[in-house]
Amino acid sequence: MFSYRHAFHAGSHADVLKHVVLIAILRHLTLKDTALSVIDTHAGAGLYRLDGDYAGTSGEAQDGVLKLFAEQAAIPGLAPVIQDYLDLLASFNAPGQLKIYPGSPFVIHKHLRVEARDKARLFELHPTDSKALTANIAQLEAGRQITVQRSDGFEALKSQLPPPSRRALVLIDPSYEIKSDYPRTAAAIQDALKRFATGTYVVWYPIIARPEAHDLPRRLTTLARQAGKPWLDATLAIGQGDEKTEPGEPRRHGLTASGMFVINPPHTLKPALQLALPQLLAVLGRGRGKGQTLESG
Ligand code: SAM
Repeated sequence: MFSYRHAFHAGSHADVLKHVVLIAILRHLTLKDTALSVIDTHAGAGLYRLDGDYAGTSGEAQDGVLKLFAEQAAIPGLAPVIQDYLDLLASFNAPGQLKIYPGSPFVIHKHLRVEARDKARLFELHPTDSKALTANIAQLEAGRQITVQRSDGFEALKSQLPPPSRRALVLIDPSYEIKSDYPRTAAAIQDALKRFATGTYVVWYPIIARPEAHDLPRRLTTLARQAGKPWLDATLAIGQGDEKTEPGEPRRHGLTASGMFVINPPHTLKPALQLALPQLLAVLGRGRGKGQTLESG
């Protein structure tokens, strides 16, 4: 069960999509004075080294954030939300370098406002990652503003809704290494919408040839429609690369496409992504099967 370690995938194209969308939402939700509760059900370790052993074995950041970082100056009229993402990365790194990659807990923390009493609740089940996350978050000295629990994020979500502030952003970002993550994600959204219908819910999902994966965005669309809530589904497929790997070299191309499904998206999200997604594709797309979609209802 615990074979998945996000450190192998940190900074991949999937992380780029996920964190660009997350930042766009956080920026909008923190414009209003009232307190925001952010719940990250599958938080990971929080911080990753892109030059470390884990990242080096898969090279996923090479085809993701490192490519974007290297080519940013060549993107005409860079979308503000991509600029925000690059600025956030810069705040964790020395000028001109990209060695540290912030995961969702640190993306979230950067947006929390002390004066508005925003809060983040992070859940991570993996013993090593939850320990690393706890240590990483402790360095922030953020006190009760941001807490870490080693527990099942799907179960924990129930106890967090509705939030006292009546404003919440929930990120559900499982590894989907076990099949049950798909139905559990849909069930968690269904339950969450009953408990707190006006929350903003964000689900990352892989686009792979597996019926459960195919089905998840459809099920989420149905749940949003049944609840009478608006939704948005953004996907990014970088396509199959054609570079050859030498014998003994790690396989470079695992996942090539993923999506972010958002229920109750801020009205600013669609226009922000209409600009950003084609730019991400232009930089990260690399061959057969590349593309991006943006649907909403
Ligand atoms: N959200 C992180 C980010 O954007 O930086 C990445 C999270 S990673 C895709 C998924 C994480 O969920 C892994 O660290 C895994 O150990 C953890 N995990 C797996 N099952 C879980 C569960 N039931 N509850 C909480 N965490 C779980």
